[in-house]
Amino acid sequence: MILMNNFKIQWAELAPDCLASMERVGSSGWYVLGREVRDFEEGLAAMSGASHAVGCGNGLDAIEIALRSLGLQPGGKVLTTPLSAFATTLAIVRAGGVPVYVDVDETGLLDLDLVEEALKADPDIRYLVPVHLFGHPMDLIRLKRIKERYGIALVEDAAQAIGASHGDLPIGSAGDATTLSFYPTKNLGAIGDAGALLTHSDALAARFRSLRDYGQSSKYVHSDIGMNSRLDELHAAVLRTAMLPRLSQWIERRRGIASLYRNHISHGSVEFVPVNPAARSVWHLFPVLVPSRLRDNFMAHLSGLGVQSGIHYPRLIPDQDAMKGVAGMTFMSMLDRARSFAESEVSLPIHPYLGESEVERVIEAVNSWRPS
Ligand SMILES: *Cc1c(COP(=O)(O)O)cnc(C)c1O
Repeated sequence: MILMNNFKIQWAELAPDCLASMERVGSSGWYVLGREVRDFEEGLAAMSGASHAVGCGNGLDAIEIALRSLGLQPGGKVLTTPLSAFATTLAIVRAGGVPVYVDVDETGLLDLDLVEEALKADPDIRYLVPVHLFGHPMDLIRLKRIKERYGIALVEDAAQAIGASHGDLPIGSAGDATTLSFYPTKNLGAIGDAGALLTHSDALAARFRSLRDYGQSSKYVHSDIGMNSRLDELHAAVLRTAMLPRLSQWIERRRGIASLYRNHISHGSVEFVPVNPAARSVWHLFPVLVPSRLRDNFMAHLSGLGVQSGIHYPRLIPDQDAMKGVAGMTFMSMLDRARSFAESEVSLPIHPYLGESEVERVIEAVNSWRPS
């Protein structure tokens, strides 16, 4: 089976670096928020062009920490996308915010025309959380302009997009804060859960550090109601030594596979999700669109030829049962486009350990589909 992710092959390559990290951390006698975390944070900040990187427990917490650090109060409205991992909205709700949705555009990312209309129509919306979905970066120049024009706080959810850029700007260029996830399937994946925040602000970085560690501003001085979202030394060590040095080659491999798919997949019923021409995607996923009534048939065909596939995401966030209890959730536009993505999207396998012959098999599997 050609899998969406293949961690066993990855382990074969990374094992020596991971085991050396384990040895280093174990023998150091210091296991949480120490030297390894600081070194990883430095490497991550340097790689991403941010002034500060602050490690935390996961991508969900990173968004909550960002919003709370930016002063979100209970009941505060946060404009975001209905088409993302549930975590994007979950973090908003956990931070006390009320999610406000507008539709996505033809690329599947938040529609910035609708974002501006919503901000004009309701000046109470003071927070915006766009998502660089699929690894495709949003238009960062435009996001920055929107942030300035409406004076809102901006958190870029870059869980799927570490390393991506739009024009000359890397992700993180527009937001007050930018959040990352190192969940194993992400482009920079740990051997377990981990996350981080990026910012250019010294003051925000200090708040992130405090909130992730019980709201302590210094030892036994608690200035905020914080959380426990600390990063383990072991994860930081593995991320810095085994993963981060390989990230750019992994991204290049993902880009190579994406261009093979784009050049060789050719099927009347399989459409590529359009990408903004200025976007330098990191291809966390390779999404295609098929007619909704044929999606099961398409996925079954792939599976029959040994090709796993996925759906990102089959149900819009505001349609989830958990959202029934969320008071004040609002829609500032119809969500037709997002809904059509939810009904039509299929993700093909794309990861750095996919071999040439496997890429060819995926292409042949797609091209040989006879919809029925
Ligand atoms: C994975 C993901 C998250 C959450 O990250 P976790 O580390 O799983 O908590 C948030 N937003 C998006 C877009 C994601 O893909």
